[in-house]
Amino acid sequence: MKIFQTTILIRSMRFSLIILALVTADDTQAKEGMWIPTLLNAVEGDMQAMGMHLSAEDIYSINDGSLKDAVVHFNGGCTAEMISAEGLLLTNHHCGFGQIAFHSTVENDYLKDGFWAMTRAEELVNSDLFARFIHRIEDVTENIATAEDPEQMKKDLVEAATAGNGLEGKVVAFDFGNSHYLITTITYNDVRLVGAPPSAVGKFGGDTDNWVWPRHTGDFSMFRIYANADNQPADYSADNVPFRPRHHFPVNVGGTKEGDFTMVFGFPGRTEQYLTSDAVARVIDELNPARIDMREASLEVINAARTESAALRIAYADKQSSIANAWKKWIGQNKGLIELDAIGQKRALEMQFMARASAAENVGWMRLISSMQAENEALFPFQMARSMFIEWVYYGPDILSYAQSFAPLIQNWESLEEKGELDGAISDLKGKTSNHFRQYEARVDEGVMAALLDPYREHLDVQFVPESMQNATNAEDWASSIFEKSVFADSEKIKAMLDKPNRKAFSKLAKDPAFQLVQAMRNVYFNRVAGEYRAHASALDSLTGEYTSALRALFPEKAFFPDANSTMRLTYGKVEGSSPYDGMEYRPFTTAKGILQKFIPGDADFDLPLDLVEALRAGEWGEYADDSGNLPVCFTGSNHTTGGNSGSPAIDGDGYLVGINFDRSWESTMSDILFDESRCRNIMVDIRYVLWITDVYAGAGHLVDEMTCVRTVEP
Ligand code: ASP
Repeated sequence: MKIFQTTILIRSMRFSLIILALVTADDTQAKEGMWIPTLLNAVEGDMQAMGMHLSAEDIYSINDGSLKDAVVHFNGGCTAEMISAEGLLLTNHHCGFGQIAFHSTVENDYLKDGFWAMTRAEELVNSDLFARFIHRIEDVTENIATAEDPEQMKKDLVEAATAGNGLEGKVVAFDFGNSHYLITTITYNDVRLVGAPPSAVGKFGGDTDNWVWPRHTGDFSMFRIYANADNQPADYSADNVPFRPRHHFPVNVGGTKEGDFTMVFGFPGRTEQYLTSDAVARVIDELNPARIDMREASLEVINAARTESAALRIAYADKQSSIANAWKKWIGQNKGLIELDAIGQKRALEMQFMARASAAENVGWMRLISSMQAENEALFPFQMARSMFIEWVYYGPDILSYAQSFAPLIQNWESLEEKGELDGAISDLKGKTSNHFRQYEARVDEGVMAALLDPYREHLDVQFVPESMQNATNAEDWASSIFEKSVFADSEKIKAMLDKPNRKAFSKLAKDPAFQLVQAMRNVYFNRVAGEYRAHASALDSLTGEYTSALRALFPEKAFFPDANSTMRLTYGKVEGSSPYDGMEYRPFTTAKGILQKFIPGDADFDLPLDLVEALRAGEWGEYADDSGNLPVCFTGSNHTTGGNSGSPAIDGDGYLVGINFDRSWESTMSDILFDESRCRNIMVDIRYVLWITDVYAGAGHLVDEMTCVRTVEP
C-alpha cells in the first residue's frame, strides 16, 4: 500500500520556515537488525521506501558533516545527541542519573526538584564523565585476515590512524571475528550538567513502570560539552568554551505520528542472538534466576533504607537504579523467552540448519551445533562464577571495591615510592574517599553484604566460593564481624590515615577483614575462573563465528546481522504500537492526561510536585500540542534497540529529532536473545514533552532558543 504524505515546515513564533518535498512510503514491515553505519547502502532503499528522505551518505559520511557527527557515546554506556551549535547535549535522565545524584544534597535536592542552569556559569562540572564521537569506521577485515601477526597488524593500523592527530583508535571484532573494523574516536572530558527535570518527571513510574508500556516518563537530561579554544578536547578549565559539533540535530517541534518512519542511532551494548537452544535454557533456568535472586536480596535492603531519610534516599539513588534496572529486565526476559518458546524456536532453527548442512554435504557445519553445545557446557560454570563475582564486586557491598582501590598502597608502597607515584596515588585516594562516603552508609552496606551471602551460596558451585564465605554460619553475624573491624567502613579513620600517610599503617590494612574478603574473592576469580572463562568463551566465539557464516550461506533468504558490541549502529522502523497478547492493544502514544491518571500523592513512584500537577491540569501546551490538543509524552516504535541505546536520538525521515530512546516494553525484554517483530517495541520520550518541560514547566526557554527548531505539519 502506498501512503502519500506531504510534509511542510511552517514558521511559528520561534521556528523557522522550511519546505520539504512530496514523499511516498511503502507500508513495509519493520525489520530486526542493528546496522553498521558504513554499510547502510544495503538498506538505504528499504529505509527510503519506509519514509526516509535522506541518503546513506547523509547519515554517515567520511568527509562531510553527517548525522553521525551529532551522535555521542555518553560515558561509555549510554548514547546522547548534540542539539545545538554550542555543545548542548541531550540524553536520558537515567544516563545522567549518577551525575544528578552526585550533585544532590538534602539542601539542593536535584533528584527531587530538578536542576536547571539559568546561565552557563551555573552549569555543574563532572569528574569522570566523557562524551565520545566517532571519527571514522573502516573495514579492516582483509588486513587482519591476511596479516602474519594479526595483533601486530591491529597495533599498526591504530598507530597509523591516530599518530599525532588527537584521535584514539581501536580495531574491534564484529560477528565473532568474521569481520574487523578500525574505529577512530575523539573524546571530550569536560561535560557539564545543564538541566534535569525532577525525578517525578525523569523517573516517573520508578521501578513499577520501568520496562513497561504505557509509559509517562520524561526520561531526559541535558549536558554541555566544553572544549579548548581550538574546539579540541581539554580537561576542565574555566577557560574552556562550548564545543562546536560538526552537526547537531534540528528538533522537530511538530513531533512524529503513528506510521511515520523512525530511526534510532546509537551505541547498543550487547545482544546474544546466536545463542544455541541449550545456552538459552541455561539463561532461563540458572543464570537469570541466580542474578535475579542476588539483586532482589540487595534491593530489599536498599529500598527499605531509602525510605528512612532524605539523606539515604539520595545516597542510594544511583546504586538502587543500577541494580534494579537489569533485575527487572531479567525477570521480563525470562517471561518472554518462555512465552515465545525461545528454546523450541532455537531448536527448530538448529534442526533446519542440520538438514541444510547435510544437504550441502558439509561435515564441518554438521558438527558445529554439537561442538557449540559442548563448549557451552564447559563454559557455563565459569560464566556463572563470573556473573556472581560481578554481582558482588560491582553491584554488591561498596566496601569491597573501595577496599580494593587501596591495594596499591597496601601491597606496593615501595614500588610506588620508587616510581615517584606515591603522592599521586594518595591524592587520587583522597578524592575517591570523599566521593565514596558522600553516597555511603556503612549500616546499609553491611545489610547488603549479609543479604547476598545466602543466594550466592545457593546458586554457585561451592568450588568457586571463598572458604571464609563457605564457613560462615549466619549471614548477619558474618557481615557484622567484617564491618565491626574494617577501617574501610569508617570514614574518619581512613581519612586520618590518608592525611598522614604511613607505610606501616597501610601495610597493616592487609589484615583488614573487608580487604581480605575482596582479596579472597579476587583470588578465586583470577586463579580459578577468569582464565577458563576466557579460554572457553573464545573457543565458543570461534565456533559461533563459523555458525553465523554457515547460517548466511545456508539461509540466503534471511538477514543475519552482527550482534551488538557497543559500536555505533543504526536501526530503523516505524512509530507503531503492538498487540503482545490476545485481545489487547498498545497504542503508540501516551499523553499528559495519563500522568495525572497515574498520579498517587505520597507514592514513591507516582507522586508529582504540586506545581507540575497544576501545570498539567492547566494544560497550556502552546506550540507543543499534538493535532488533538494533547501533549504527547512517550511513543513506541518498531526499532530494534538494546541497553546502550538509552539516550539515542529518535530521528524522523528528514533527520530531525523527534524523541529520545529510553526503554523497551515489558514484552520486548527478551529481544537481546530472541527478537520478535510483532511484539518488540522500543520506547521513546516525545521531544514535545522534553520541550514543554524545559521551556514551560522549568522556565528554561533559553535552552530551547539555543536549539534549531523546525516544525513539520500536515497541510
Ligand atoms: N532502558 C534500557 C536500559 O536502560 C534501554 C533498553 O535496554 O532498551 O538499558
